[in-house]
Amino acid sequence: ATRITDETATLAAPPEMKARLLANENPFGPSEKAKKAMQEALPNSYQYPFMYSQQLKQKIATHEGIDAKQVLLDAGSSPLLLAAAMHFAKNGGSIITGDPSYDDLPEKARKFKANIVEVPLTADYKLDLEAMEKKIDGNTSLVYICNPNNPTGTVLDTAKLKAFCERASKKVPVFIDEAYIDYVDDPQGTTLIDLVKKGNNIIVARTFSKLYGFAGLRVGYVVAQPDMIDTLSIYSSGAFSISAPSIQAALVSYQDKEYMNNTLQKTAASKKFLYETLKKEGYEYIPSSTNFVMFPIKMDGKRFTDEMMKRGVGVRFWKFADQDWCRISIGRMDEMQAFADAFKVLA
Ligand code: PLP
Repeated sequence: ATRITDETATLAAPPEMKARLLANENPFGPSEKAKKAMQEALPNSYQYPFMYSQQLKQKIATHEGIDAKQVLLDAGSSPLLLAAAMHFAKNGGSIITGDPSYDDLPEKARKFKANIVEVPLTADYKLDLEAMEKKIDGNTSLVYICNPNNPTGTVLDTAKLKAFCERASKKVPVFIDEAYIDYVDDPQGTTLIDLVKKGNNIIVARTFSKLYGFAGLRVGYVVAQPDMIDTLSIYSSGAFSISAPSIQAALVSYQDKEYMNNTLQKTAASKKFLYETLKKEGYEYIPSSTNFVMFPIKMDGKRFTDEMMKRGVGVRFWKFADQDWCRISIGRMDEMQAFADAFKVLA
């Protein structure tokens, strides 16, 4: 797959952009409680946030039924993906990943001289666990699984994934990136933290950037065995990288069911509108378990995104399976309407 790393488009997103649907952010967040907590935290933000970071770790550990020693916080999950990339690239280790999948960890690892083994998705655009398992050999240092998968929005069957991870993690560590897990129907029944609890050599990454709407606030964590947390800590400054207001906002947001349900409802309504728009124009899409949708386009991807951007709508494109695709993040209804207006003209 070709990932179009159009950082300039993301960074240069003009303020007059009507619909920012290119980075899988959540425009319904952060919650009112989170914003209030940050304002109240400001006067004391001359203090280091030790106490609050310990509280957040404990809150997560209590909710998941694990020990606080099994949680490593950082400023979003990206620094923890980097920590894993650095560690598992050592000695030219080989990392198995899907294609296309979220390529941040593999691409960073490649820069540290890791060998990256990319395994194409199945015909229904899911990670091909069987094929990935066959690729595990003596050089493999890590298997990276993004579930739900970015950019396809597909989620794996939990029982199959668990069985795969139980077998694979006896040979090599498995890294499960659950950035979008909060959007699936039953996050608690889908998370692989369950297998970490049972002692498996599995690293689960989570972020506040998606459902909690914290992409600009930067809070994320991994859950793993205590010795793996110690290992990854070599490459991470941990919670020390997160600002006190962000940690305090995370403390009031974590598992705030009212906010979460409200946001999920709004996301579902916008997604339904998008599906209807695509159907009306004669387009198919990959059914999504996340806050973004991938659909095949009928023109060159670059031309499509450029034309959309001219109309104030920011989306991204991919090329895989001999096809150009658009990935559109789910935004507010006014943003989905702006997309629909522009799309009607272009489609
Ligand atoms: N993992 C996946 C699958 C993502 O899509 C993203 C961001 O888009 C991240 C991790 C990194 O997010 P953050 O560093 O904001 O936690």
